[in-house]
Amino acid sequence: MFYFDDFYGKKILKSSLLSDYDCFFTTREFVLTCASREDLKELSEHNRKFLSNKTGCNITTAKQVHGNNIEIISKDKEFYDNTDGLISNIKNSLLLMNFADCVPIILYSKNDNTGAILHAGWRGTAAKIVKIGIDKLKNELNINPENIIALIGPSIGKCCFETGEDVFEQLVEDKNDISLYQFKNGKYFVDLKKINYNQLLSAGVENIDTCDYCTCCMSDIFFSYRKEKGITARHSAIVKIKGD
Ligand SMILES: [Zn+2]
Repeated sequence: MFYFDDFYGKKILKSSLLSDYDCFFTTREFVLTCASREDLKELSEHNRKFLSNKTGCNITTAKQVHGNNIEIISKDKEFYDNTDGLISNIKNSLLLMNFADCVPIILYSKNDNTGAILHAGWRGTAAKIVKIGIDKLKNELNINPENIIALIGPSIGKCCFETGEDVFEQLVEDKNDISLYQFKNGKYFVDLKKINYNQLLSAGVENIDTCDYCTCCMSDIFFSYRKEKGITARHSAIVKIKGD
C-alpha cells in the first residue's frame, strides 16, 4: 500500500513494503531535478543538498536515455551516462533517478541488502528493462527474485496514456488481454504499470506494490511531461542502501 509521508518536512510517497527503508518517490514540493524548469533550478540544488545531508550519503545518478542499459554502481563513480537502471549493494549509497510520467520501479532485496531503480517509459517497457534488471540481479549478484520487493511508482495511467497504433503494437503482445489497454474513440490507451507488473511476475518477483496514482491526472502533486507539454521538472525515485 502506498501512502504519503514526509522526509524531514517534505512530502514523499512511500510503500508499506519498504516503510522502514529510505526508498521513496518525491513530489513537486521536494523537487530534485529541474529539467526544463529553470525557475526551479535553485530549489532543486538546495533540495539535493538537503537529501544528502539528511541521509549522510552522496547521490549516485544517471543520464537517462529511454534505453535498457543497467549499471551496478561502484564506489568511486557517482554519474552514469546512457543508463536507465542503477543497482547498488554498497551500504549507505544513495540512488536517484528522474521521472515525469514514465514508470519508476524500485527493487529491493532485504536479504541481500541490494536495491535498484529502473526507468520504464514506453520504450523501456517495450525493451523489457524489468526483465533485464531482474536477470542482472540474479545472474551477476546471485539474488533470488523471490526475495525482491518491487514498487511500481506513480506514472501516467491508462486513463491518460493515449498512444498511436505503432506504440501500442510495441507494447501490447497479447491483444486479447484487455486488462492491458482500452480502445475508445479510435484510440489506444495503454496500461504501462500493468505491463511492467506482468514482466515482474514472469521474472519471478511476487512481492509487488503498484501505485494507483496517475501523474497526468495528479499534476498538482507530481510532474507530468504530457500534461505540462514538455515544460516540466521531474519527481525522483530514491533508494538508499541500508548501512549497519
Ligand atoms: Zn490519468
